[in-house]
Amino acid sequence: MPPRYCEVALPVPLHSTFTYAVPASLDGESLIGRRVVVPFGKRAMIGVGIAESDRPPNIAQVKEIAELMDHLPALPPKLIELGHWITRYYLAPIGEAFRAMLPPEIEIRHNRALSLTDSGRTYLRELTATKEIAGFENAEVDLLRHFENEHSAVPASRVRRWPGGEAVAEKLVRRGYLTARDVVSPRKMRTQKVVAWNPNPPSETASARQRAKSSPSTREAEARIREVLASTRGPLPLALLLEKAHASRAVVQRLEKAGALVTWEEPLTPGEDPWDTDFVPPANVLNTEQKEALEEIWRWIVADKFSAGLLHGVTGSGKTEVYLGAIEAALSRAKTAIVLVPEIALTLWLGRLVRARFGAIVAILHSGLPDIERAREWWRVRRGEAKVVVGTRSAVFAPLENLGLIIVDEEQESSYKQEETPRYNGRDTAVYRARLEGAVALLGSATPSLETYHNARAGKYQLLNLASRVENRPLAEVRIVDLREEFRRQHRAAPVSDALRAAIALRLEERTQAMVLINRRGYSWSQLCRSCGAFVQCQNCSIALTYHKSRQRLECHYCGYSIRPPKECPKCHAEYMYFVGDGTERVDEYLREQFPAARIARLDRDTVRTKREYQQVLGAFANGEINILVGTQMVAKGHDFQRVTLVGVVAADLALGRPDFRAAERTFQLLTQVAGRAGRGELAGEVLVETYYPEHYAIQYAAQQDYISFYEKEAHFRRILYYPPFTALATILVRDRKVENAIRWSRALAEYFAPFEERGVKILGPAAAPLARLRRDYRFQFVLKSPHRSALAKALAGAVAFCAAKELPATAVIVDVDPANLS
Ligand code: ADP
Ligand code: ZN
Repeated sequence: MPPRYCEVALPVPLHSTFTYAVPASLDGESLIGRRVVVPFGKRAMIGVGIAESDRPPNIAQVKEIAELMDHLPALPPKLIELGHWITRYYLAPIGEAFRAMLPPEIEIRHNRALSLTDSGRTYLRELTATKEIAGFENAEVDLLRHFENEHSAVPASRVRRWPGGEAVAEKLVRRGYLTARDVVSPRKMRTQKVVAWNPNPPSETASARQRAKSSPSTREAEARIREVLASTRGPLPLALLLEKAHASRAVVQRLEKAGALVTWEEPLTPGEDPWDTDFVPPANVLNTEQKEALEEIWRWIVADKFSAGLLHGVTGSGKTEVYLGAIEAALSRAKTAIVLVPEIALTLWLGRLVRARFGAIVAILHSGLPDIERAREWWRVRRGEAKVVVGTRSAVFAPLENLGLIIVDEEQESSYKQEETPRYNGRDTAVYRARLEGAVALLGSATPSLETYHNARAGKYQLLNLASRVENRPLAEVRIVDLREEFRRQHRAAPVSDALRAAIALRLEERTQAMVLINRRGYSWSQLCRSCGAFVQCQNCSIALTYHKSRQRLECHYCGYSIRPPKECPKCHAEYMYFVGDGTERVDEYLREQFPAARIARLDRDTVRTKREYQQVLGAFANGEINILVGTQMVAKGHDFQRVTLVGVVAADLALGRPDFRAAERTFQLLTQVAGRAGRGELAGEVLVETYYPEHYAIQYAAQQDYISFYEKEAHFRRILYYPPFTALATILVRDRKVENAIRWSRALAEYFAPFEERGVKILGPAAAPLARLRRDYRFQFVLKSPHRSALAKALAGAVAFCAAKELPATAVIVDVDPANLS
């Protein structure tokens, strides 16, 4: 066999792969798409093989691949192609692009191991020969002696227990007497304790005697355990048993000791989700519009080639049923399907529906899952056991083969754009993947992005319409509350307008439900000095700190920096500090004061962090246990609550003030979406929108729920101002802790870009970025626009190469293609 070499993509921020030699032990194995462990500097790293060759690379010493991780290639060929596309299109470092596609690394643990070097051996010999040595040298001798007796590298965890421990070892490493390297070791499969009622207890009398000694409450807990395990259910994982029987660990231990229970260890399996049990999906008969849309999708799927479609359906038009039908179509042709949703909460809703319909072949993938659970789902997909994947952005990389359909629900959502490298857009990646695989991409929305609707008008996407709500339910009526007038009347600003308060009171009387959206979490947006006008700012970012009353902190929502609210102004030391701008916490508190009898819950990132908390709040609201739900945009998206008859939007125009060309679009989308939450069941709905700019077209058209007019007007502005969808757009951000560096590098880049102006790329900047400081970095930004994507791509690729040639640090320059935000 000639020597073989493999190009490995490693998760480092560089634009190249690394060449490794393939050891003879891997003869006959293809390495393409397979995860490998390789030495990288002194570390072990996991990468993926993406090309092979038998030509030796042009470097002095080629290291060998240490280990093959899986039997099955993690990435099928189409995903490797997709990874290359992400690298090219988004100018992403290749290894980071590929890492986004791989399963979480749960199988191995990185360990540091130390061993004695030759010079260490000499040093030890010298020291032992010397009669008088210093105290610190004594410690070194003691430690080195331990190493002398070892035949292989010693794990750091053991060295820790030796005299001197790691502190002395580190010094010896620095002087070259010891060497440290990373080793990877397999991690044991995690297990869980499973508990069963013992069918043949050792002797009734013994356990009865035991039990007689226990307190009444313990006996009740025991009875409940018996009830759960022996009567209603079989063996259960310990954690689940404790929850279901409301019992403590101690009670289980007692019963186990008495022989009434038996326990054993089992590999962790996906916990049964109580959210799923007893769920009966609605049995809807498709209406004419739904049927027509679905028949068209069937034709695309049967055609067995790439096509892309936009399902434009007003809120409550029953898009989900069309998605389910489309998945069925794909499965009936022996194909697989992916459904992308914009956030984790929606994987719960949609996941449950899809699972109820298609059963165990459905996998759920999102970043909120613990690594081990995500890895298990991921491999279930890779092995072909799951054929339908419901997930968030990164599920676009789900390793399905024979893909027939990718659905992108709420395709306009900016959460599809990843805000760290690789900065891909899940929706656009979905369309590209569908193209690669000859599959159907179906984008769904009530308020399509300008880009997508433009594509539909241009004939690139086929357009399907659901123009009316199911059963011809009317769209909710939208009323605009002019806050300027409200203030003139009241001369004070309550967190909620009179009109909205009255409307909520009415719902409480009627016993229907209300949702209140305020798109800022916290109690107050900021703390301001009345004397000098300064906001209390983050010390790392150019942003005002948000006040959280329950924690008594001012917090930075970007970097997490927090302080106690100062009593006096940090700038002028006056004592006139006050809080401005109401957030969810304040609105929540205000409503509790106003309606003490109402049951009110809050949904934002401070109150719900885990999947379980989401399920609790949303489940309680769906069951009618909550009257008023207050929340950020988390409440706006997708959910289908039947008894909501009022939606109030507090400070609807918050987004309009942002320096971003999408401000109007975002406002229109948010208002239309949230309005769509009202009146979905048999009860009619009403929406109250509070604003200081009642005549703004985004607010007006949202109130009329008139997408087409909004699109026309917005598209007109975009066209004359050269913004997407009429130009391709990218930003380059230059950042550094030192402002001089950031300025110097952006000047250099400006010079580099100058000639591109003549090649059809418009370059704005460098200018201070809208967030001029973030996490201590100073930031300067270029905005690049071009009617020709290829010209833009050339300028960007050139800039990346230029920065590399100038040896700018890899993290100093951030390229963002098709950015979701300009700030
Ligand atoms: P959206 O288009 O806003 O995503 P959904 O798919 O959530 O709308 O559907 C809204 C509601 O209408 C759901 O409760 C769903 O069960 C119901 N529904 C869907 N199709 C029909 C139908 N053909 N007949 C009656 N109800 C339907
Ligand atoms: Zn900060």
